[in-house]
Amino acid sequence: MSMGGPGMGRGGRGFMSEEEKANAPKITWPLVKRVLSYLKPYWKQMILVLAAIVLSSVFNLMPSVLTGRIIDEGLIGRNMNALVRLILLSLGVTLGANLIGVLESYLNTWIAQHITFDMRNQMYRHLQKMSQRFFTTSNQGDIITRMTSDIDGVRQVITNTFTSILSNVITLIVALVAMYQKNWILATIGIIIVPLFTLPTRAAGKTRWQLTREAQECNDEINGILNETMSVSGQTLVKLFCMEDREYKKYEDVNTKMIKLYIRESMAGRWFRVVITTVASIGPMLLYLVGGILIMKYDSSLSVGDITVLVALLGRMYGPVNSLLNIQVDWLRAMAMFTRIFEYFDMPVEIEDQKNPVRLYSPKGNITFDHVFFQYEPDRMILKDISFTLRSGNSVAIVGPSGSGKSTMINLIPRLYDVTGGCVKFDGVDVRKLGLKQLRENVGIVTQETYLFNGTIRENLLYAKPDAKEEELIEACKKANIHDFILRQPQGYDTVVGNRGLKLSGGEKQRLSIARILLKDPSVMIFDEATASLDSISENAIQEAIDPLIESRTSILIAHRLSTILAADEILVLKDGEIVERGTHENLVRLGGVYTELYNTQFKKALEAEVKD
Ligand code: ATP
Repeated sequence: MSMGGPGMGRGGRGFMSEEEKANAPKITWPLVKRVLSYLKPYWKQMILVLAAIVLSSVFNLMPSVLTGRIIDEGLIGRNMNALVRLILLSLGVTLGANLIGVLESYLNTWIAQHITFDMRNQMYRHLQKMSQRFFTTSNQGDIITRMTSDIDGVRQVITNTFTSILSNVITLIVALVAMYQKNWILATIGIIIVPLFTLPTRAAGKTRWQLTREAQECNDEINGILNETMSVSGQTLVKLFCMEDREYKKYEDVNTKMIKLYIRESMAGRWFRVVITTVASIGPMLLYLVGGILIMKYDSSLSVGDITVLVALLGRMYGPVNSLLNIQVDWLRAMAMFTRIFEYFDMPVEIEDQKNPVRLYSPKGNITFDHVFFQYEPDRMILKDISFTLRSGNSVAIVGPSGSGKSTMINLIPRLYDVTGGCVKFDGVDVRKLGLKQLRENVGIVTQETYLFNGTIRENLLYAKPDAKEEELIEACKKANIHDFILRQPQGYDTVVGNRGLKLSGGEKQRLSIARILLKDPSVMIFDEATASLDSISENAIQEAIDPLIESRTSILIAHRLSTILAADEILVLKDGEIVERGTHENLVRLGGVYTELYNTQFKKALEAEVKD
C-alpha cells in the first residue's frame, strides 16, 4: 500500500475499489487485539518511537513560529543580537528535528521489520503443517502473494500508516494551538480553507489512481503471460504447437495497452500538480488579505511577523489534513491486509501431530489397513473397505486400472492424508497415534513424479541424510544403479540437476530418488512405479535397482511391470477403490477376473517388449 502522494501506487490513497469496499473487513475488538498482539513484544521501542514522533513534530514546526520573531524582533526591530540568536536557534531546532527523525525512522523500520519477520516465520511454520489437500487445492500464486506482498503490506502499514497518523495529528494540534495564539480570526479561516482546498486534490488523485489500477491490471496480465510461457513446460507447449507468434502478439498487445496507460497516468499527475500548486497558493493569499485588512482597517495588534507565521503554519497543515481525511481508508486497508493474513493463520491444521505420541522403540514396518475408507471430497468415496496386512520383510504389489486409488492408498501410510474411516496401523499402532516425525522417518516413498531441487546431485541426496558420509552416498548410488552415470558427468556428484531435475532423464531421476530413499533407510519402502514407459535400458536399470530391495525390505509396490509384480509376495488387485482380488500371480491369472484382464492387456505386452529387447 502506498503512502506516497495522493493517488499514487497500488493502494491509491483515500480511495477504495469496489472490490475492496465489498471485502472491507469488519473491524472488531478481537481483530484489533490480535493486531496489537504482534506489536506487544516491541512496546518499549514503540514508546521511544512515540516520543521521537512527538518531539520531531514539535521541533519541525518551531522554525515556522520563530520566523515571526525573526521578522518582528530581528528585522523590523533592528536588533542584530536577537536576529543572530533566533537564526541560530531556528537552525539548531531544524537540525534537532532531523536528528530525531533519523532515530525515529531507524526505530520504526526496526520494529516493522521485526514484526514482519515474526509473521513470516510464523506463517511459514504454519504452512509447513498444512496438508497435501491444502497444497493441491490452493493456488500457488495465492500462497506466495500472502507470504510476500501481504506481509510486506503490513510492514508498510506499520512504518507509514501508524506513524503518519500520529505525526499528522500532533503536527495539526501544535500548528492550531500556535495559530490560535497568534490570532483567532486568521486561525479559523485556516481551519475552514485547508480542508476545502484538499478537495480538488482528491478529485485529481482519483483519476490518477484509476489509471494506475488499470495499468497494474495490465501488469498482472503480463506477469501471468510470462509465468505461463516462460516456464519449461510452457515453452515446450508453445514450441510444439508453434504458438510463438500468437503468444508474442498477445504479449505485445497487453504491453502496448500498458504503456499508453502509464503515459496517461504520468500526465494526469502533471496536471494534478498544476491544480494543487495553484489552489494551495490561494490559502496564503487569503490570509495576507484578511491579515492586511485587520491591521489596516481594524488596527489589530497583529504584526507582520505574526502573519508570516500564520501563513507558514497554514502551509504545514495541507499535508496532514489530506492524510487524515484518508485515515478511514488507510485503516480499513491495513485491517484488510491483517485479516487476509490471519485467514491463513486460522486455517486448521488437518494432519495434527500427536502431543503425546506412542513411541516405537524398534520399528519393524508391519503395515495394516483395517477397513479403510477414504474420500478427498465429501460425496465421492475413493477407497472402500480396504483391509490387508503386510508383515515386516515381505512385499506387496498393488495393481489396478488407472484411477483405481493405488496412489491414494499409499498416501495414507505416511499420513499425507488421514483416513475417513477405519485405520492404518504401523506395527499395530494407529498411524494417527504415532509421532509424525517417527512415522515419516520410517516410511520412504519413491513417487512417480520425482521431485529434485535445483542443486547438485550431492545436495539432493543429502536431503535424505544431511550427515551421510561420502562412502554412504556412493554405496546408495551403486545400489540404485546410478553411480556409474554420475561418474560419467563432468562434475560427478557436484553436477547441477537443473530446475526440478529437468536436466536428467525420467529414469535417471527415478534412480536418484531410489538412492535418496536408500540413504534415508526407512523400515518400509513404497515404490510408485512410473506408468510412463521408459526405454528398456532405463527400465532394466531401475529393475536391477529395485529387485534386491524388494527382496530385502518391507515394501509396497504400485506395479505396472510384470517383473515387479512377480517379485512381490502378495498381489492386491484394486478396482474402483476396492480390493477385488488378491493372491499370487499364478492363482490370479487363473481366476479370469480383473487381474487376468490386466495381465492380457498390460503386463503381457510389457513382457513381450522386454523379451524382444
Ligand atoms: P494411476 O495409476 O493413474 O496413478 P491411481 O490408481 O494411483 O492411478 P489415484 O491417484 O489414487 O489413482 O486416484 C484415485 C482417484 O482419486 C482418481 O479418480 C482421482 O481423480 C482422485 N484423486 C486423486 N487425487 C485427488 C485429490 N487431491 N483431490 C481429489 N481427487 C483426487
